[in-house]
Formats: sequence, structure tokens, C-alpha cells
Amino acid sequence: MQGVTVITVRGLTMQFGAQRALDNLDIAIPPGVTGLVGANGAGKTTLMSIVLGLREATSGTVEVLGMDPKLLGSRIRARVGYAPERNVLPEDMKAVDFVKHLSEVRGLPRDEARNRASDSLWLVGLGEERFRAIGTMSTGQRQRVKLAQAIAADPKLVLLDEPTDGLDPMQRDQMLALIRQINDEFGIDVLLSSHLLEEVERVCDHVVALDAGQLVADGPLADLIGGNEGVELELVEIADRPRSIDDVADALAASGLDVERDGAVLTVVGPDTDVLADATRDAVAEHGARIRRLSSRKRTLEDLFMEQP
Ligand code: ATP
Repeated sequence: MQGVTVITVRGLTMQFGAQRALDNLDIAIPPGVTGLVGANGAGKTTLMSIVLGLREATSGTVEVLGMDPKLLGSRIRARVGYAPERNVLPEDMKAVDFVKHLSEVRGLPRDEARNRASDSLWLVGLGEERFRAIGTMSTGQRQRVKLAQAIAADPKLVLLDEPTDGLDPMQRDQMLALIRQINDEFGIDVLLSSHLLEEVERVCDHVVALDAGQLVADGPLADLIGGNEGVELELVEIADRPRSIDDVADALAASGLDVERDGAVLTVVGPDTDVLADATRDAVAEHGARIRRLSSRKRTLEDLFMEQP
């Protein structure tokens, strides 16, 4: 049975002339922080704009917080914060006026909008800077203004399109921590798009992966990258046993494990650590091989993408 979802998409297709940007997608996004991952052009922004009712799909159905964006786009946009990828910020406006204005557009009374604009700018670390014109701000600060306006009107859900784009590693860490915080502390569900698999792995509970408009994966992060353990095994080349590394690789593959070889290094993936440890020990002993290094290797989202046909 399907649990509670914040966004449900069925048979969703988006065609731009000859270009199919989204191809018959079925996606169920639960509460929490969800990463929408895929390379540039995968269809992430197109999906977000359909979810917000800014663009109509060619076919299929979409439900956002129980509403159909085709019919109730403006109600959805009042309850769903959005930080677009493009730089759409007005250069001459003070950050606090901009955030206040968008909060009023989303339905907050003027005084409440002013208070919330100020609160959300403090939350993202721009309290001291809130009266500065946005045009004078750095890329990191502008990304924070975009986050502040997305959360200011007390949304149930926010859609953040590439929120770490243009940030240096430290700013990126801070932005990811903020995103986690708005879900953990304020209960705002988040859909964040990114082309960086590693950052999605760090912050998300759930992952939706797209590749050229096709769904590659949709599930809890732990299910997608867990359940398979890996080891990296570096063997010593032995002069009088020239085939020992091949023999170990063949023996491990014969016992049902996934083996990749790069010179003297074997990467072996299997269902659990005990099976891996037993098979490795037996294969090495049987073929008289010698181990130089043995380390465990966690499966990553990158492995998931690499496994696609
Ligand atoms: P990026 O991060 O680079 O924006 P993305 O995953 O968000 O990538 P989309 O912007 O959704 O990808 O684009 C998906 C595909 O649809 C691309 O091939 C893009 O060229 C095409 N596309 C998007 N918008 C339009 C449009 N208005 N007209 C024609 N093609 C479009």
C-alpha cells in the first residue's frame, strides 16, 4: 500500500516539440527531504514547473498536497515555496522588502509578512544583511535570499531548484544543513534538485533519479544504496603465480558476487559483509594470492547510475 505522499505523479509525459523532456513517469514523493537528481537536461526543472502549475504536462496526472496543479495552481503556489534555479532576484530591492513582498503575494497580511521576512532572513543567516540591496550580495547570500523567500510564508512544502549552485564547499555544507533544519525543526517537506549525487546522499531521506526524462530510481535513500556491501581488495602480483589475481576474481564471480577488476585491485559487491568476507578469504587461500589492502566500500548513488543500461 502506498503511504502518505506530498507529490504523486502518474504517467507524466512532457513533450517540447520533438523533445520528450519527461517520459511516462510514475513517482510518489513522501514527506521529508527528497532529492531530485539527474544531469543537466534530465527534466528536473520541467517537473518542478508542472508540480507548481506553471506549465501543463502533455499527458498524465499530478497531485500536490492533494490538489491538481492544472485546476488549483494558485492555491498550490500559496502553500508551496519555490526557489528557482535562475537568478531572478531584483537587484535594487532590499532583501527584506523582497521576501516580505512575496509573502504578501502568497497571502500573508502585511505585518505578518514583514515579521516573517525578517525571521526567515535571520534563520538563513542574513539577519544583519537584511536591509542590503540584493544586487550587492554574493552568490552564497543570494542563494540564501532565495531560500528565505521560499520558507517565509509558512509553506507545507518547498521546491528548491539547484540550491547549492555556485556555492563553495563551505557554503554548500551550510546550505545543506539549513535545508535539513527546515525539515527537522519546522516540518517543511523539501524537494531539492541537484546534479551532485554526493550532496543528495548527505541530506536526503528519499531520492528520485531522472536520466533524460526517464525514471532511474524512486525510493528511500537507505534502500537504494543499502542492502549491498562492497569491499576493495588489492592483491599482490606474484611472479611465479601469474594468474592468481585472475583466479581470485573468477572464484569470487563464480560465488555470485559482482566483481570489477582494475589491475591488482578488485571491487567486490555482495549481499552482506559475512558472505563477502567468507568468499574473499576462501578465494585468496585457495589460489595462493596475497592481500596488500582490504577496505570496505559503501555503495553510492553514483553506482546506481553506473548500473543503468
Ligand atoms: P538543468 O539543471 O540544466 O536545468 P534539468 O534537469 O532541470 O536541467 P530541464 O530544464 O527540465 O532539465 O530540461 C529537460 C529537457 O527539456 C532539456 O532537454 C531541455 O532542453 C528541454 N526543455 C526544457 N524547457 C524547454 C522549452 N521551454 N522548450 C523546449 N525544450 C525545453
